[in-house]
Amino acid sequence: MNLEKYSIGIGDRFGREGVAQLRALVEAKKLGVDIVPVWNKSNREHTLIGTSPGNVRVEADAAVRELSWRASYYVDADHIGLATVDKFIASSDFYTIDVADYIGKPATRESTDAFLRDMAKFKGTLQIPGVDAAVEVTDALLMEVARKYLYALEEAGKVYRHIVEKKGENSFVAEVSVDEADKPQNPIELFFILAGIAREKIAIQTIAPKFTGSFLKGIDYVGDIRQFAREFEDDISVIAFAVKTFNLPENLKLSVHSGSDKFSLYPVMHAAIARCKAGLHLKTAGTTWLEEVIGLAASGNDGLEIAKEIYAAAFNRFDELAKPYLPVIQIDRTKLPEPREVAKWDERQFVETLRHNQSSRMYSIHFRQLVHIGFRIAAEMGEKYNQRLTEYRAEIEKNVTENLLVRHIRPLFLGQAAD
Ligand SMILES: [Zn+2]
Repeated sequence: MNLEKYSIGIGDRFGREGVAQLRALVEAKKLGVDIVPVWNKSNREHTLIGTSPGNVRVEADAAVRELSWRASYYVDADHIGLATVDKFIASSDFYTIDVADYIGKPATRESTDAFLRDMAKFKGTLQIPGVDAAVEVTDALLMEVARKYLYALEEAGKVYRHIVEKKGENSFVAEVSVDEADKPQNPIELFFILAGIAREKIAIQTIAPKFTGSFLKGIDYVGDIRQFAREFEDDISVIAFAVKTFNLPENLKLSVHSGSDKFSLYPVMHAAIARCKAGLHLKTAGTTWLEEVIGLAASGNDGLEIAKEIYAAAFNRFDELAKPYLPVIQIDRTKLPEPREVAKWDERQFVETLRHNQSSRMYSIHFRQLVHIGFRIAAEMGEKYNQRLTEYRAEIEKNVTENLLVRHIRPLFLGQAAD
């Protein structure tokens, strides 16, 4: 099973937007770019919403049928490990093996020695084609890489072999993710991480490093764009070199997590993948649910009412909702409007405050992030929320499709400026 050059992870919290999401890819195809969908949902997300992995498979299959989608599509067991992978075996054919928690745990003396022995041939000046600066590979550098990553990569090997045992070789796409690490990995670390992955004989097709800067949920990139651009392009060169050096799958490419809404990065990412003829997997961050709220609010009446209700409840339960997301949100509470103010808003004010349109004076990153982490409020509403989603289907789907196509796919994969 070979993942295509361009793919997009389309998380969908409530599982209702599969068709609207896929429609964006149908439109993209008409515009001249082939992107395959990967429906992803993590174990964490399933637990918070009360869904199971099988639901995602049903949603993906149904969307594909409805739109007569002929190309490939995948269902991603997102951020799994040995403890959580089993319930994804039947329904998934893409596995994001997350080993960030194992970074820094010590490998055995024996395996550390073996790693250092295998890597000794890279000692001295290492010039990776496409990377400007040569790197001096020393014993100290190799020791440091082993100390940080070796055990984690061994763990990835265990998870990978477990999946192979259950599903058979070549029957799924394997990603290894370290994006939830505390610190970013630089290109040379990425090179030796890929060496470690090759030693574990993982047929890896996508790798998700942690990049420099902050990838916050649902808002634009926070950080140094030029530094990101350099690192991103170096990572692409490192991957191409590692594929040859370690005999890794030819289609190995970068996976960018929390990649939705990173509008200021799309031009540089597009330029890099175009120049290097590289592939890319962009994983979105569950922001489709925000398009549901936008669609509801835009519909007025009880659609706007439920959107306000969700905001008010999220405002009142801020601490509880924010707790699991503290590393990936930056909300200034003093900038959040009081629910009694929001109660007076018309649909336009609600929509413009929430929609990720940086040229709108009403847009608020604080408001947007709070609603984003407020999906649990909607989950708790259960049937009531579901009914509204049915009632205002047309407006919601329009927003879901447009958000993916216009604000994400066009600038990132086609190099077209968003309007
Ligand atoms: Zn991730």
